[in-house]
Amino acid sequence: MAEAIDYDAFRREVTEFALTRCPPEFRRLVAESRKLSRKVWAPWQRILFEHGWGAPGWPKEYGGTGWDHRQRHIFDEVMAECDCPPQYHHGLRHIGPVIIAFGSEEQKRRFLPGILDGSVWWCQGYSEPGAGSDLASLRTTARREGDEYVVEGQKTWTSHAHEADWMYTLVRTSKEAKKQQGISLLLIPLDTPGITIRPIATIDGWHHVNEVFLDNVRVPVANRVGEEGQGWTYGKFLLDRERLGGANVAPILKNLGRTRDLVAAELNGEADRLKREMLDQRLLAAEAELLGAQALGQEAIAAVMDGRPLGLLPSVLKLSTSHAMQRVSDVALDVVGERLAPRFRRVDAGGPNAEAPGIEWVQNYLYGRVRTIYGGSSEVQKNVIARQLFGF
Ligand SMILES: Cc1cc2nc3c(=O)[nH]c(=O)nc-3n(C[C@H](O)[C@H](O)[C@H](O)COP(=O)(O)OP(=O)(O)OC[C@H]3O[C@@H](n4cnc5c(N)ncnc54)[C@H](O)[C@@H]3O)c2cc1C
Repeated sequence: MAEAIDYDAFRREVTEFALTRCPPEFRRLVAESRKLSRKVWAPWQRILFEHGWGAPGWPKEYGGTGWDHRQRHIFDEVMAECDCPPQYHHGLRHIGPVIIAFGSEEQKRRFLPGILDGSVWWCQGYSEPGAGSDLASLRTTARREGDEYVVEGQKTWTSHAHEADWMYTLVRTSKEAKKQQGISLLLIPLDTPGITIRPIATIDGWHHVNEVFLDNVRVPVANRVGEEGQGWTYGKFLLDRERLGGANVAPILKNLGRTRDLVAAELNGEADRLKREMLDQRLLAAEAELLGAQALGQEAIAAVMDGRPLGLLPSVLKLSTSHAMQRVSDVALDVVGERLAPRFRRVDAGGPNAEAPGIEWVQNYLYGRVRTIYGGSSEVQKNVIARQLFGF
């Protein structure tokens, strides 16, 4: 019989690890709500990996921890409580599980170790100009020439492409009557000749998205995941995993607590009482939604671990957590916006900000607009939910 797990002891173990092994500088950046980069994420992933905790969501045979879903939840909670950086998602939560589910043995041997130890960085080449919500309209082509594909086209909104080594990419390998057919999933090293990466400036002043141009880019056929023409199936599997990012509600709840402290600190006079109470009410409503999402998130993690169908869970979680996050940052902006928003200038990841302390609240409000767009907009999630519920 399996030994009973002592969850309290496990929580103490994770807390001890977080407080002693996560560099204080990283925890300070997270506590100050700074934007992070590979310079922080990669060494933190390495530390987790060396401790055997690199991939809590993967099967044990590929380097997973073997935790049950309650341990996964405790791990997420403690990491957020201790202000540890979140793990970078593109490898661990997106392409890693796709390679595990659909990749060849050779691809598993080649790609999974670099994701686990944080040495190889991935980005997502799905969207194109003209193919966002309607992703199946993508026009980047991959023409087969012997053992290679020749890729031509353009990707856009590619988060972190400028700091990534590889891009998992949906391309059109043939033209079929149904546009979801004839799509394939290629793994493309970003140092291949013919690739140009250009930054896109965003309202939050943080460089995180890019355009990626592919001009006569030669990619070995061995870098195709699964079968040619079946990329839509793998791509959708990956999108479900991406949308399950909302299953980890702990960092959002932590941010909500911080926002509550901000309200209390900034609106502490009698003259502010009415405004303070109204903002507290709004935080309470967001908290209620997040606690509901937390319960659903635990169900989603259990479903992934048991190999059960996810149904509506990815879309419901994406929809509810992204709006709750925005509602929390709306409250923060209502507190500091009048004073700080006019002073908003570019704030780089982790950079000094002596000029306007607290400006991160404004930056996070601006950055947070993206939550209801990337990974499929809220309108698209509502369509997915309606289709599954009502069958149209
Ligand atoms: C900051 C940021 C980071 C991103 N990172 C990545 C990345 O790393 N990799 C990647 O591949 N992509 C990324 N994206 C792209 C993202 O997935 C797309 O922006 C998103 O899918 C929406 O597509 P679109 O921008 O083309 O807008 P459109 O699809 O043109 O949509 C415009 C508006 O119309 C609405 N709409 C569209 N179709 C429907 C419909 N059928 N019913 C109702 N309403 C509809 C949408 O909700 C939206 O409000 C990122 C986007 C942003 C902004």
